[in-house]
Amino acid sequence: MIFLYNTLSRKKEELKPIHEGKIGLYSCGPTVYWFAHLGNMRSFLFTDILRRTLELNGYEVKQVMNITDVGHLTGDTDEGEDKMLVAMQRDGKTALEIAEFYTSAFMRDLERLNIKPANLFPKATAHIQDQIEMIVALEKNGFTYRTSDGIYFDTSKLADYGRLSGQKSQDKLAGARVEMGEKRHTTDFALWKFSPVGSKREMEWDSPWGKGFPGWHIECSAMSAKYLDVPFDIHTGGIDHIAVHHENEIAQTRGALGVLEANVWMHNEFLTVGDGKMSKSLGNLYTVEDLIAKGYDPLAFRYLVLGAHYRSKLNFTFEALEGAQNALKKLRDAVRSWDSPQGSCKEIEERFVAALNDDLNTPQALAIVWELLDCDEASGAKAKTILWMDRVLGLRLDEYVGRSLDVPVEVQKLVDERERARADKDWTLSDTLRKRVEELGFSIEDTDMGSKVKKM
Ligand code: AMP
Ligand code: ZN
Repeated sequence: MIFLYNTLSRKKEELKPIHEGKIGLYSCGPTVYWFAHLGNMRSFLFTDILRRTLELNGYEVKQVMNITDVGHLTGDTDEGEDKMLVAMQRDGKTALEIAEFYTSAFMRDLERLNIKPANLFPKATAHIQDQIEMIVALEKNGFTYRTSDGIYFDTSKLADYGRLSGQKSQDKLAGARVEMGEKRHTTDFALWKFSPVGSKREMEWDSPWGKGFPGWHIECSAMSAKYLDVPFDIHTGGIDHIAVHHENEIAQTRGALGVLEANVWMHNEFLTVGDGKMSKSLGNLYTVEDLIAKGYDPLAFRYLVLGAHYRSKLNFTFEALEGAQNALKKLRDAVRSWDSPQGSCKEIEERFVAALNDDLNTPQALAIVWELLDCDEASGAKAKTILWMDRVLGLRLDEYVGRSLDVPVEVQKLVDERERARADKDWTLSDTLRKRVEELGFSIEDTDMGSKVKKM
């Protein structure tokens, strides 16, 4: 049995899959106008741990993660400029170039943090027609109205609007600054925005209502219905998405298709820096690239995130990261001397999966890993169990179990990194890494079985 905290019911619920043995999972993905920061990566690590836990329990998971490349405005309550247009002015590039550049940077970060790629990464700009069709359905069902700048969703028409955040349509965000324009209610939101009259917008499409571009929320309703069917099992995102983005997704899917979009809504807490959330607007962000530049292993960040429950705030400091990196090193060093995987430590495995199945209690799961290290079982059995645990932990322990220290850890890491670069056909990086290995006094020979490392 798996229990997950559902924001919709505000309690832990037993997971009851819609189709036996299968889970449909939709995760709100990145807005590709800048590098994803570590706060964003915490959100994607959370969904990765969720997915891996479901898979460890034998479920076949279909995960869809959108790539937002139009429509996400700079303001947090749906006002301001399109983030992609701001990036175009900043970088002097086309929207397509920006989206491609930051999407591939994002994919590289996923790989570095050993986050499994979603089965599908649909882009908003590649699904404009699907979004238009959904707005047409909303219009037909009487949920829309027109203003001088766009087509809006009338939230007063939906009896249970506000269900997710627990705030009613009119008083929601009371006190917060909301650009009303010609909106009828504070919570109403744009489904389609018109291009400004007389000027050609860089990203605009024809629609039944004239040239323009979709609002941010409609992409997730349209693409989740297209690729997962609705309702599907689980929808994830950061807690900042509860009040606006996810509330509005639910409203659109309900209004257009008459059903609840997803049964379980899960949200990760923030990665903070001091008192504030890590965010681009606060200017307090770090990226995976920054960690590497400072000599950290990106998986130390993964370890750090595992050490906090996803519904607790996690304050990012370099001291904490240092601690995580040391713990990871200790773990890797310990498993090096173990025999080849054989047998298993059943009781520990049972407790490990029970911790994860209790709303992804990763701090407890990590504590059980350390119990395994200290227990008296045969090392082969421990090796087998830790590799099984690593299917969720994702710390790439297979690169360390049973590998003796003839080759120093730092050299082995460079060799592993080079193998990944070669798999990605990144020959420049591969050459740079070979040189660094040679500077440390080791040579690499490429064989059919992978790289062989020798003392020079
Ligand atoms: P965005 O690229 O802004 O659409 O955000 C991608 C994901 O990161 C969303 O699920 C956000 O809720 C989440 N997110 C943004 N900032 C943080 C943070 N500081 N800590 C954790 N998650 C965050
Ligand atoms: Zn979304």
